[in-house]
Order: sequence, then C-alpha cells, then structure tokens
Amino acid sequence: MARFSLLKVVNTPSAIFISLLLASALLQPVIVQPVIANEVESAEQKYYFPVAGCEVKYGQYHHDYPASDIFSAKGCRFVATTSGIIDELSRVDLWSGRENLGETRGGLFVSLLGDDGVRYYGSHLAKVSKKLEVGVRVKAGRYLGKIGTSGSARGTPPHLHYGISWPTENNNWLIRRGVISPYKYLQAWQVGEDLSPSKAVKRLMKKRMALK
Ligand SMILES: [Zn+2]
Repeated sequence: MARFSLLKVVNTPSAIFISLLLASALLQPVIVQPVIANEVESAEQKYYFPVAGCEVKYGQYHHDYPASDIFSAKGCRFVATTSGIIDELSRVDLWSGRENLGETRGGLFVSLLGDDGVRYYGSHLAKVSKKLEVGVRVKAGRYLGKIGTSGSARGTPPHLHYGISWPTENNNWLIRRGVISPYKYLQAWQVGEDLSPSKAVKRLMKKRMALK
C-alpha cells in the first residue's frame, strides 16, 4: 500500500520536476567559504613563553633591576616571544670577570623588536641560530638560540636572562637588560594566554621621559 502510493506520487509531473530540482541542488559544487575566524586570530598578537620544550624554573624577583632569570637545561630552545624583527645580536662572548662591563655581561644574546612595539632580550645563550641576522623577520615561537652560561653567567646553572623594554639603540645595555618585571607575562604565556606587556612598557617609558 505504501509502495503503491509512493510510485503514484513520483510519477506525477510535478513530483518529477521537484525530484530533478532536488537532485540538481544536491549536485551543485560546494562553495567553501573562507574561514573568517582564522583571519581574526592572525590579526591578534601571539605570545610564546621564551623557553620551549623544557622544564623551567623562574622566580618573581630579579636582583637589583626588573628582569627574569629562567633556569633550564643547557641547550634548551630560546624562542621568539612574539612576531617581529631581530634588532641586535651577539655571537661572541666578550665578557671578562675582571672588567665585568655591563655591555658584555649578556655574552651571546638576541634582541627582538616585537610588532607590539616592545623589545625582548634573551642572553647568556650557548648558541645563536645561524639563520638570524639584524633585520630578519621572525614569527612568534621561532627558534632563536640555545640556553647556556655565556657572559657573566659563566659558572652558574644554565639560564636565560630575559628582559622586556622599550625599543632602544644598540648597546644601551641599561635599557635592553630589562625595565619591567616579565613575571606576570611569563605566567600568562606559560598557560597559552596572549597577555601583552605593550601598555605597561609604554606607560613606564612616558614616565621616564617626563622625568628627564
Ligand atoms: Zn639575570
């Protein structure tokens, strides 16, 4: 009974027309819409914890000025905090304990000028990536070098000295070594939160400029 009525319906001219229409609709090529969510996401600044793939230890305080010493095994990867341009680097260790000059204390180091307008500095490296030169553009999370004990870290447990500052001319070690505490940003990046130090850095810079 059910089969009979179905045949009857399908055989009427309007039913054939509708079924053809449905079939042609089903055969339409599928138009894939661009994924807008990805574009929105890439427009935001991404942040990575500066040491990748290794266990790390770091405290809230740093001796006599704001910075962080991130302890990790020798050879662990130092990576770009965010996207930007390599601003300054050193592949040689010119530090001597006798002179202990501020400008050579970092040993092997890399400075990155982030697209967020913040300068990120990592020093005491064992190695700087061969692919880096001043002016090279890097993506967030890119490999920059290996954790070590160069500069004034000679004889200490391997660690990355990590400094956050505003952009500065090369060799201005008093600024590049760090002007604000990276602690709360490190904590955020470790859990995948894109917290930017940009506002805090700009605020402090304005304050310092006003004092001059
Ligand atoms: Zn330090």
